Amino acid sequence: MRIGQGIDAHALVAGRALVLGGVAIPFERGLAGHSDGDVLLHAITSALLGALGEGDLGRHFPSSDPALAGIASSEILARVAARVRAAGFAVENVDATVVAQAPRLAPHLEAMEKEIARTLAIAAERVNVKATSTDGLGAIGRGEGIAAQAVVLLGERDPGRGSPRG
Ligand SMILES: [Zn+2]
Repeated sequence: MRIGQGIDAHALVAGRALVLGGVAIPFERGLAGHSDGDVLLHAITSALLGALGEGDLGRHFPSSDPALAGIASSEILARVAARVRAAGFAVENVDATVVAQAPRLAPHLEAMEKEIARTLAIAAERVNVKATSTDGLGAIGRGEGIAAQAVVLLGERDPGRGSPRG
């Protein structure tokens, strides 16, 4: 077994679409940053790299690399998921929390779980996404940004079965 954790935060700015967990969410602002600013997928990707013992997102996908300009966060997650499989592991489960004051994310959590599971090529019940606020406290409570935290567990793939579980 291998465990990994990841955390990320991005500023909310006008003129950007809000994408969380690979799902477009109606809101008047979106997350700044490289690619689509998908803070949830970045936290999960970081957790997977951590579980593999392979450093962080910036090492593998530097924002200075012009070849990566505009790349979707789901594509980055898919590439790291392929690294997980190539290293002989399967994703046992993902648990993640999005910290946001607004918008209300509860109606979108199931869609995020399905999209993340699809990108990781695992069953949807292995992915759990939660949402919370800071009860108005701090920068996130003032709506200046959104943060996310994720934990992943990897298990060795069963060599006798030849394919990842899930
Ligand atoms: Zn990020």
